[in-house]
Amino acid sequence: MALGMIRNIFPLMRSGKVGHKISRSASSSSTGTVKPRICIVGAGPAGFYTAQYILKHLENSQIDIVEKLPVPFGLVRFGVAPDHPEVKNVINTFTKTAENPRVRFLGNLSLGKDFSLAELRERYHAVLLTYGAEQDNTLGIPNETLPNVLSAREFVAWYNGLPGFENLNPDLSGTSLTLLGQGNVAVDVARIVLSSVDDLKKTDITEYALEALSRSNIKTVHLVGRRGPLQAAFTIKELREMLKLTNCKTKWRVDDFHHVEESIPDLPRPRKRITELMVKSVTEQNATTAQIERSFRPIFFRSPINFIGQTKVEAVEYVVNKLVEGRAVATDQRETIPTELVCRSIGYRAISLDNHINFNEKKGCVNNAGGRVLKQTLTGSDQTIDDIEDKYETGLYASGWLATGPTGVILTTMNNSFGVADLVCRDFQNNVIKLNGSRAGIDPSGMPFVSWNGWKAIDAEEERRGSLQGKPREKLTCIKTMLEIALNAQTN
Ligand SMILES: Cc1cc2nc3c(=O)[nH]c(=O)nc-3n(C[C@H](O)[C@H](O)[C@H](O)COP(=O)(O)OP(=O)(O)OC[C@H]3O[C@@H](n4cnc5c(N)ncnc54)[C@H](O)[C@@H]3O)c2cc1C
Repeated sequence: MALGMIRNIFPLMRSGKVGHKISRSASSSSTGTVKPRICIVGAGPAGFYTAQYILKHLENSQIDIVEKLPVPFGLVRFGVAPDHPEVKNVINTFTKTAENPRVRFLGNLSLGKDFSLAELRERYHAVLLTYGAEQDNTLGIPNETLPNVLSAREFVAWYNGLPGFENLNPDLSGTSLTLLGQGNVAVDVARIVLSSVDDLKKTDITEYALEALSRSNIKTVHLVGRRGPLQAAFTIKELREMLKLTNCKTKWRVDDFHHVEESIPDLPRPRKRITELMVKSVTEQNATTAQIERSFRPIFFRSPINFIGQTKVEAVEYVVNKLVEGRAVATDQRETIPTELVCRSIGYRAISLDNHINFNEKKGCVNNAGGRVLKQTLTGSDQTIDDIEDKYETGLYASGWLATGPTGVILTTMNNSFGVADLVCRDFQNNVIKLNGSRAGIDPSGMPFVSWNGWKAIDAEEERRGSLQGKPREKLTCIKTMLEIALNAQTN
């Protein structure tokens, strides 16, 4: 633990004011009962859902939610597409949680920068790591660093206003964009690029992205997957939106659909419905001869093996796959498809942030069993968690994408987080976590942290700026400006 760090975090501890500060934040009640003090690291869905559950089920618990950014909500704010405002309604529930008097929101404070895990564990009875999975996977193929080869993560961060991505300036001067991966994130990017700017204007997409998209030349978006239509990762809602997009036609490759129609009766229900929709769209795709400017082109059975280009990407070379027991197996056939911009969308991964986190580098998540962080990593294929005595780090948990890996939607994250929060409550109730003394929590005074009131000031300013343009909000992307607004509100 770095001494400088502690001085920064707890400047008042060494001053005469310390007694007052700690007695207020230490949470021992007048009867002497020690209140469980819990720190949640990361204010995304996992953080808010674990907090919500613990508040309800663990009496007297006091929760600090610590967030790296000055603003809360994680990927609900920076991932969910701007034209899906209904998905963002979860923010109302998160706000109720944050406004519970037993919760403190401490924005603009980072694990790994402002404090270490050891410091948090000293100052709280339990620590929950919910800081998500913010890196993206790479393909590991030649020329992946060519200009105009981006990740969907960066592209989404750009249009959604994640600080640090406002100057990404994706080159939209070419006529085609290729998305590598067929999950819903890739479809979100396709839809945003192919949507009419008039429709996007009414959303909370950033003004600079709207302006760039209004000058975009992109007419064709390829959505490339290594397996077939029966394994497509996008869901029916996202596909329907693409099929309904104005001024855009979905063009399938008929060859990708051999034997697909006849397999429909045997498919399980959700897969059956999406396959029926795809087959119907394939059948009807030549029905209209109207000139439609833009096209969305799903391409199946292709894995990228090389990016071609000198000063920027000009084409992607693919190997043609066949399916063997549901797996993509490369054939010796190749196909090269020209493109001027590429976004890989092949998943996210978490990073460790602290040497004391037992981290699975291969999977990109914290080693945990149902949310309890493991002391050791399992070795050997026949070893199970039950073979290890003293398996868990007492009072240390992980939930959300950091724990499960980056899969599933907000609802999946909610279920996982409620489950982990339940373990936390049981560990307190069963005395696994001993309430043998009060814990002080972080004292953020002296640091430019953002309180919930500070966030509300940022929120109000974003809504004000948005209303001037007929949008729900115009997101601030400059951390300095955010801090000025928040700190000004906090001191007044
Ligand atoms: C592009 C995209 C679009 C999506 N769209 C949808 C959708 O439409 N519908 C849907 O249901 N699901 C959607 N999802 C999935 C959904 O966003 C996730 O299920 C959910 O956000 C995971 O929650 P989380 O809390 O684990 O992670 P996150 O949402 O990533 O939250 C993690 C939080 O931790 C913070 N943090 C990071 N590092 C630190 C640190 N060092 N110290 C303190 N805090 C830190 C981050 O800033 C962030 O606020 C989408 C995902 C992506 C990537």
